[in-house]
Amino acid sequence: MTHPDFLWRNPDPKPAYDVVIVGGGGHGLATAYYLARNHGLTNVAVLERGWLAGGNMARNTTIIRSNYLWDESAAIYEHSLKLWEGLSDELDYDLQFSQRGVLNLAHNLGDVREGRRRVNANRLNGVDAEWLDADEVKKFCPIINVSDRARYPVMGATLQRRGGIAKHDHVAWALARQADAYGVDLIQGCQVTGFEITGGRVTAVETSRGRIAAGKVALAAAGHTSVLAERAGIRLPLQSHPLQALVSELLEPVLDCVVMSNAVHVYVSQAHKGELVMGAGIDAYNSYGQRGGVHVIEAQMAAALELFPIFSRVRVLRTWAGIVDVSPDASPIIGPTPVEGLYINAGWGTGGFKATPGSGWVYAHTLAHDRPHSLAEPFALDRFTTGALIDEHGAAAVAH
Ligand SMILES: Cc1cc2nc3c(=O)[nH]c(=O)nc-3n(C[C@H](O)[C@H](O)[C@H](O)COP(=O)(O)OP(=O)(O)OC[C@H]3O[C@@H](n4cnc5c(N)ncnc54)[C@H](O)[C@@H]3O)c2cc1C
Repeated sequence: MTHPDFLWRNPDPKPAYDVVIVGGGGHGLATAYYLARNHGLTNVAVLERGWLAGGNMARNTTIIRSNYLWDESAAIYEHSLKLWEGLSDELDYDLQFSQRGVLNLAHNLGDVREGRRRVNANRLNGVDAEWLDADEVKKFCPIINVSDRARYPVMGATLQRRGGIAKHDHVAWALARQADAYGVDLIQGCQVTGFEITGGRVTAVETSRGRIAAGKVALAAAGHTSVLAERAGIRLPLQSHPLQALVSELLEPVLDCVVMSNAVHVYVSQAHKGELVMGAGIDAYNSYGQRGGVHVIEAQMAAALELFPIFSRVRVLRTWAGIVDVSPDASPIIGPTPVEGLYINAGWGTGGFKATPGSGWVYAHTLAHDRPHSLAEPFALDRFTTGALIDEHGAAAVAH
């Protein structure tokens, strides 16, 4: 029984589960929730080595949008955005989901062409998208500097009005509460250290809290996926990088949309509480340290100040980093692995928060039916050997 004063129980692990999910971030929790809700599978555990949502889930800048270039990406991210639109009601929790509009700025002719192309591609896929010239950008977001004397002048922007932000920890807590209510065991402080594989099939996980037998094992460990997969003998095409973000001191409302710039490497929104939330590009080296270089933050703030001179006297309150799992085509990897019964959901890199419900939905389906959901099919691991890549570097670039 859920204790009335707590959002979820803290059970000890059982000796065996039908499905063991490794990683209690947004994707692991959403997968557990949809396994129970959509497929009636409740003999499920989520094993989290730290605390629920202590990884990227509560470190991201919460930008939600679906304006990716290729059909496959538009389909999965738009599916996710549609789920977001009903999620607060469904989970009975205020997720502070705010569709305030996302601008992707263009600063040179290449950006303009890419942005316009993407607007057209989005519309063909039923994703709302508009092209704004510099004057229209200024009208939509009056505090942006559109001077043509800027080092990277604003030449226009794509706008997705249905894009926006949500409050990440509320999302995690809401998913955890509902999964728990269905009977899913959420087990914190339980690190998966290895896999028992018999005759090519995974049969159990080894953990810091002992052996746990599993019918199926689903990795949802974001930046640590390749380390885990290696323990099952699988080498994944993923690199783990630090990705940094920061918040400012609290301000009165001053920015009511999300602004992203791939060229100057910054993205900014203002949280409900009042902080400016800003993200950077990835730190260039591989690391698991959850911290990054100061020069990256410095460059990010210089870019932000050029775009928003009005922020010049704002103080930084806090900076941090998460470890993101970047794939060669900037698209996720979802589906079975060469080990029977072992599945992966990874490679969301710098942009997986927006996918939280959509990813959980298709991963749960894939696990329940032992075959990929149609939206997940193009994101199979074998695309790196067949060559059927889904290159979203343009839409993902600085990310998100
Ligand atoms: C600074 C920053 C800004 C970002 N901004 C955005 C954004 O604006 N929009 C967007 O869409 N995305 C954004 N992202 C990306 C997004 O946060 C991730 O793609 C997404 O959160 C990954 O899925 P997750 O929530 O399940 O990951 P995580 O929350 O990282 O969950 C993985 C979990 O697995 C656990 N784990 C790892 N190894 C083990 C083990 N051996 N045993 C047990 N548990 C283990 C970890 O402790 C962790 O809790 C950003 C990321 C960062 C770091």
